[in-house]
Amino acid sequence: MSCNGTDMSRLEAFLALVEKPSRYTGGEANAAVKDRSACRLRVALAFPDAYEVGMSHLGLQILYAILNAHPHICAERVYAPWPDMEARLRAGGLRLSTLESGTPLAAFDLVGVSLQYELSYTNVLTLLDLGGVPLRAKDRRDGDPVVIAGGPCAFNPLPMAPFFDALVVGEGEEVISEIAGVFLRAKQRGLQRAEVLERLAALGGLYVPSLHRGGQRVRKRVIADLDRWPLPLKPVVPLMNTIHDRISLEIARGCTRGCRFCQAGMVWRPVRERNPSTLLTMADEALRATGYDEISLLSLSSGDYSKIEPLLGELMNRYSGRRVALGLPSLRVETLTPRLIEEIRRVRKTSFTIAPEAGTQRLRDVINKGNTEADLLETARRVFDGGWKSIKLYFMIGLPGERDEDLEGIADLAHRVMREGKGRQVTLGLSTLVPKPHTPFQWVRQIGLEETLAKQGHLKRRLANRNISFKWHDARMSLLEGLFSRGDERLADLVERAWRRGARFDGWSDRFLFERWEEALRDAGIRLEEHLRQRGTSEPLPWEFVDAGLDRDFLLAEYEKSLRGDQTPDCRREGCRNCGACDGPLIAIREAAALPDAAAPAVPEAAAAVPPVTRWRLVFAKTGMSRFLSHLEVSSALTRAVKRSGLSLRYSEGFHPHPKISFAFATAVGMESLEEFADLQLEGGIDDAAAAAGRVNAALPRGLEVRRIERVGSGEPSLAKIVRGFRYRVWLPPASCTEDLEERIGGFLASPSVIVEREGKGKASRKDVRPYVQGISLDRGGGTLEMTLMFVDGRTARPAEILGHVLGLGDEAVRSLRIVKTQTLLEGGEGKG
Ligand code: SF4
Repeated sequence: MSCNGTDMSRLEAFLALVEKPSRYTGGEANAAVKDRSACRLRVALAFPDAYEVGMSHLGLQILYAILNAHPHICAERVYAPWPDMEARLRAGGLRLSTLESGTPLAAFDLVGVSLQYELSYTNVLTLLDLGGVPLRAKDRRDGDPVVIAGGPCAFNPLPMAPFFDALVVGEGEEVISEIAGVFLRAKQRGLQRAEVLERLAALGGLYVPSLHRGGQRVRKRVIADLDRWPLPLKPVVPLMNTIHDRISLEIARGCTRGCRFCQAGMVWRPVRERNPSTLLTMADEALRATGYDEISLLSLSSGDYSKIEPLLGELMNRYSGRRVALGLPSLRVETLTPRLIEEIRRVRKTSFTIAPEAGTQRLRDVINKGNTEADLLETARRVFDGGWKSIKLYFMIGLPGERDEDLEGIADLAHRVMREGKGRQVTLGLSTLVPKPHTPFQWVRQIGLEETLAKQGHLKRRLANRNISFKWHDARMSLLEGLFSRGDERLADLVERAWRRGARFDGWSDRFLFERWEEALRDAGIRLEEHLRQRGTSEPLPWEFVDAGLDRDFLLAEYEKSLRGDQTPDCRREGCRNCGACDGPLIAIREAAALPDAAAPAVPEAAAAVPPVTRWRLVFAKTGMSRFLSHLEVSSALTRAVKRSGLSLRYSEGFHPHPKISFAFATAVGMESLEEFADLQLEGGIDDAAAAAGRVNAALPRGLEVRRIERVGSGEPSLAKIVRGFRYRVWLPPASCTEDLEERIGGFLASPSVIVEREGKGKASRKDVRPYVQGISLDRGGGTLEMTLMFVDGRTARPAEILGHVLGLGDEAVRSLRIVKTQTLLEGGEGKG
């Protein structure tokens, strides 16, 4: 008689076998899971990079919030699958689907793709192909989704244009609702694809390649007032550690410093600051909605935000008592006043980043960096005096007019900063100039591979010092970035050829293989040098039909000034330079209003009396898709949910305080558990444990559920001391349920020792697992095994090791089994689950 088999879906079976499965499970706190039948428009927001990169991107969270605020629109997310997952999906004939509802991309009305950087282009093709959407716009028919891209790369849309039905140039907050409106009306009237595209082409900021006529200009979209868009207030909280695992509070958009290499500084002009009162409301709401313990103040140059000191002071007043840290990722040297350094010192002291960009004053003038060596050294001194242990310096090579002395200047400056630190660490990051469209350097030649490697090699030798760590950007990646930045529509063929040759995740150094690109370049007949060359100032440039709001004359004048080493001061301080970005009374530089006095709390939080500390035990379950969360991911999800529930966690002392929460034992990724434990310390108590559990549950991701909260007496032992063992239930695949299974189990139990091979940290070892096994029983009717494993001398066995032996299964088959920890056995009685 055979067993009934497992009840796992095919996707779940894959998740048990791929790296970082929490990339694909969904169910995060604040994810919008809507009734699809009530939605008249279905949008998939697709990010062509891994989940942990895409989830750190603010723009996608903003669009997700805007679309899902509409009652008749469902917006869902999808990220590029890592190659191991892609291979599994292809082998299993499954389509790439959204996290919220598991719907393949092909079933959406609209697929919105975020184009943030050139080395993610091949991943766009993976998203479309695996999602069941024809790669090229010309091959899509009625019934296929309309695919629209946006993001910084749309400022030169040509290399990717054949893959998209439309591209949005500029900021998305307003235009996304206009696009949604076109679709909603089109559905009401039963319009076909061609008519939808015509209506999209009529919107400002939309480039529809199939309908675009030569000479037609596409003007970028700009929002006038950031305060009208205080988003996102409830960001989706990722399950896994992401690149920016914190609240991103965008304090300003745009920059008027005028660095001549910086595309973001040019195309996101004019500067628009958000009012501090709006920012404080946003911070309050986002903290309440996420349980994060860090806020990052985002802008291209956060020190230029006109109310930065009062804003930081007020944020500190409000949140330092709650151990919320603040981060300012982009600071310019000249904005670092002693008071600002002091404010930052109160909130962060890990590492401090300064970007001189060039090694000599002459070259800093060429790029219009606007700071001096004296500024840099003075800042470095203040930073080290402020207690920082390391400084990161960023430089570029390949700048126009660069000479040997400029490279020497980089090395000299690094050594001088190091001397200021008196033995503390300096990290030097080096990248190669990639001339970008819509900047004064759009005409400049990008240096080639040999030249880049020679300059990097020289600096490696000059910076050989144990107090300096030197990191450089891959020269080959820079070449491709440069190729796509200033390329034209011929490059679409190259992207497809490289993708067909296996190019994926080209921005990841461990995935990037330049040889694939060299072959694809040869096949496509494209010469890198042609695209990297110096452009004549009178020759037409492929991206010039895109109006990024910058006058060509301004860019040209800036380029010519760079050749003379002339500087251009910041227009916010020394008058308008007629760059073209401001447009009438609405689109103009907007400075934040002063912080209202009423914002300051009457009594600083720190002065409040600290309530007595109490200990509590959370008993929780980890089921369904949440079984694919790692121990660390479960810990952070639960910690954030406890914070959101209003319970006041106690923190450790010291420079990096941690909440006092401990988890008994890690349950393996892929294993469900009906009885997990976490002990926590609270400042104050809990009046109603059931209600508190309900609040924590409301903030937990799908599949994690607190079953009860119990008081723990002050003298009671910790969890680690009282756990004696675990009971497991295992669902057996039919092939494992052999006629002789009872015999095999009996043989195992009758053996005095059972040796298994164990792999760990690259080393193989052997272990006798028999002493840990108290019992195994088979339920053929239910198709399950019950197994009890105990601790002996503080150690136990892994269920997989026993199952591999008893069932005669290999590693992959064991990982695919559905195993549920049904009970935790505690000293003085069994677990209560
Ligand atoms: S138009 Fe004038 S004020 Fe506005 S961003 Fe350009 S230079 Fe500055």
